[in-house]
Amino acid sequence: MLLLIDSETEKGKKYKVDTINLTCTCPDYIFKNHVCKHIITALDDLPERIQNVIDNVKKDNDKEFFIHKFGENMLDALIERGRISLDGDNVLILKND
Ligand SMILES: [Zn+2]
Repeated sequence: MLLLIDSETEKGKKYKVDTINLTCTCPDYIFKNHVCKHIITALDDLPERIQNVIDNVKKDNDKEFFIHKFGENMLDALIERGRISLDGDNVLILKND
């Protein structure tokens, strides 16, 4: 799904977030290739997608499995949101609501 997320710095400007691949069209994402605040905002609008990921972590909390299944951006995004953390090669659920 593609979501349009407002730029915080440039009024009227919107960036396109791909909620499946967790990519964004903003400079932060394109040049630094990391999870930007737009991706985080987009995930906040999709609690069921986050819940699906958390449910998977409950079944298998291996870090490599997580990255294989959901990608490194999702890992970074959920860490940034305080939902999961890493303990060596294990993914820990911090907050589950
Ligand atoms: Zn962005």
